[in-house]
Amino acid sequence: MNQSSRQTIKRKSLIINSLQQSSKVHKNMELRNIAIIAHVDHGKTTLVDVLLKQSGTFRDNQKIQERAMDSNDLERERGITILAKCTSVNWNDTRINIVDTPGHADFGGEVERILSMVDGVLVLVDASEGAMPQTKFVLTKALKLGLRPIVVVNKVDKPEQRGYEVQDEMFDLFSSLDANDEQLDFPTLFSSAKMGWASETPEKVGDDMTPLFEKIVEHVPSPIIDNDAPFQMLVTTLEYDPYLGRVLTGRITSGEVKPNMTVKSLSRKGEVLEQSRITKVLAFEGLERTPLESARAGDIIAVAGLSSTTVADTIADPNIKQPIEASPIDPSTIAVTFSINDSPFAGSDGDKVTSRMLRDRLMREAEGNVAIKVTEAPGKDAFEVSGRGELQLAVLMEQMRREGYEMSISRPRVLFQTEPDTGQRLEPIEEVVIDVDEEYTGGVVEALSLRKGSLQDMRPSGGGKQRLTFLCPSRGLIGYHGDFMTQTRGTGVMNRLFDSYGAFKGPIPARRTGVLVSLEKGRAAGYALFNLEDRGLLMIGAGEDVYGGMIIGEHNKGNDLEVNPLKAKQLTNFRASGKDDAIDLTPPIKMTLEKAVAYIADDELVEVTPKVIRLRKRYLDMHERKKYARQTIDA
Ligand code: GDP
Repeated sequence: MNQSSRQTIKRKSLIINSLQQSSKVHKNMELRNIAIIAHVDHGKTTLVDVLLKQSGTFRDNQKIQERAMDSNDLERERGITILAKCTSVNWNDTRINIVDTPGHADFGGEVERILSMVDGVLVLVDASEGAMPQTKFVLTKALKLGLRPIVVVNKVDKPEQRGYEVQDEMFDLFSSLDANDEQLDFPTLFSSAKMGWASETPEKVGDDMTPLFEKIVEHVPSPIIDNDAPFQMLVTTLEYDPYLGRVLTGRITSGEVKPNMTVKSLSRKGEVLEQSRITKVLAFEGLERTPLESARAGDIIAVAGLSSTTVADTIADPNIKQPIEASPIDPSTIAVTFSINDSPFAGSDGDKVTSRMLRDRLMREAEGNVAIKVTEAPGKDAFEVSGRGELQLAVLMEQMRREGYEMSISRPRVLFQTEPDTGQRLEPIEEVVIDVDEEYTGGVVEALSLRKGSLQDMRPSGGGKQRLTFLCPSRGLIGYHGDFMTQTRGTGVMNRLFDSYGAFKGPIPARRTGVLVSLEKGRAAGYALFNLEDRGLLMIGAGEDVYGGMIIGEHNKGNDLEVNPLKAKQLTNFRASGKDDAIDLTPPIKMTLEKAVAYIADDELVEVTPKVIRLRKRYLDMHERKKYARQTIDA
């Protein structure tokens, strides 16, 4: 079983295990709700684990099977957290809910909703690395919401720690992000999450995490709540559980909720969506969810029993007429078509290849993920999947291939709208916030102007970096992330957030070159590839399997060129077949999933299997391809 299906199963069983325990009531406990902001690898998981252990939230005989808040591989590779996870620890008489924050803003709208559940933030930072620009986006949001930070400088056990310096850097960073005086007067603790202690100074080894627990209780305000008012809660996240149905998480704004209670749900606009009975109230406890007999205002909990309510809706007592104010769910701005893999190599890597399997998996995703919508193209074995950005869709594709799916993916399309009165074409515009070293600003500004971005603001953002803010059509951003990383030698950080639908900004230059297309099915021969090298850049190496209609490289001219990578006029002193070791080929260009999807043209597809990513022409047969090309010219 691969990693991600194991995780799905583990996640399922977490809920089931916990349901077998007896129900509880969380009465008379103080509450604190905090979010944790940290760069990947600075020790967030280790810290939360140690808080769970030291607060006795884990029973002694309970083995910690999954690390708290552990991100899945995908998130780790991309340096982002996708799902906001919540955990909870009880310390003396205080229940502390800890919410993880997403680190990337393809998921931008979510950040605000998540931060609106908490009353304080822990900013965790590595004592030698210092603040990393990736966390600035979430930090800016947190500071804007008026949340007061507690800084935890972690890993001070390491000899290269520079705790005080990092503390100063955090001050400068907050100040550059317009923190107010109260926020700038933040408390700092120095910790070794690994050794299990926190201390007031980096020099003094602490005993345990008591200073941090105390600081949270003392510094973070308890939630402002109204226990006597009728029940109301804003839904912040949605998950789908096969046994419970929709599991809706949020913070209770007022009143109390109990299983069997009748509630209604209201949209942001105040329409009644459904009236239903709560079947479960679940509290987060450590890594599990415990059923509760009741939960009260201020607590972050999940409820089950509603079938059409989603994120940004209000669940409330049936007498309530007004929904809680919420930022709307960011609209889908981009769509790709997922279809079955019909290449000649279909089914050779994956075990999930039928249209039925693809459909079930995508529908399941849409049910538990507000940011994704799936529509079926009738009779075509194809599904249109729309979401908030390429990254989000690429994450879904990557997850699916790791689960054993094979599929074909089309070029992403931006979702346009029409202005109802004037009939004008509108396109999604995003706010793009970029942090880069000063030397790269010129290049970035130039690249984004070509993509119809307009620079809104430019200012120093600490540590010799500049912060550039653009408004740019989503259309122009397709495929830019890869270029941006190359352009900034991997040091730049880019965050994107939906801004508005605006007037169509005019054509943006597309890929200017054609591709090299294989004419034959078979194994690529080194000497054939060698002969093709002066035609363009190759995407495959010697010995790789190819088929007719597969894209094997980029042509150095504007048109597509049909080539034969299997054989070519044999040069003297080259061996005739197999992997010809003697030939010194230029290494092929490596296509990641994100890069491939952004690269292809409308008449091309990406073939995704658990093992390979191939680019291909939509029509594999040369004659069909010609026919299709004629049709599009005529059209
Ligand atoms: P996350 O990505 O923020 O969740 O980071 P992890 O908790 O997974 O920690 C990343 C790495 O840093 C792991 O190898 C940890 O063992 C290590 N680490 C975490 N906290 C400390 C610490 O206080 N001191 C030292 N020396 N290493 C730490």
